[in-house]
Amino acid sequence: MFNLTHSKLVRLAEAEGYAEVADFLEDHALDSVVPAICMAPDCDHTAELEPDQRDGCCEACGRPSMKSGLVIAGMI
Ligand SMILES: [Zn+2]
Repeated sequence: MFNLTHSKLVRLAEAEGYAEVADFLEDHALDSVVPAICMAPDCDHTAELEPDQRDGCCEACGRPSMKSGLVIAGMI
């Protein structure tokens, strides 16, 4: 089951200029690098990472908490 309402996913889609999370996922579903966001509560750093990234190092807060939008959505 996809999760399109996760607050970090909504924030990531908005940061990428999408009003709808579904449109964001559709555009990036087959890309080799996709937008990712830091999952730490006090950090919203975004970066382009591998689609299956789930513990990438955040360049802003230094924690291994970068997740790709596709992972947050449950597509991977
Ligand atoms: Zn961070």
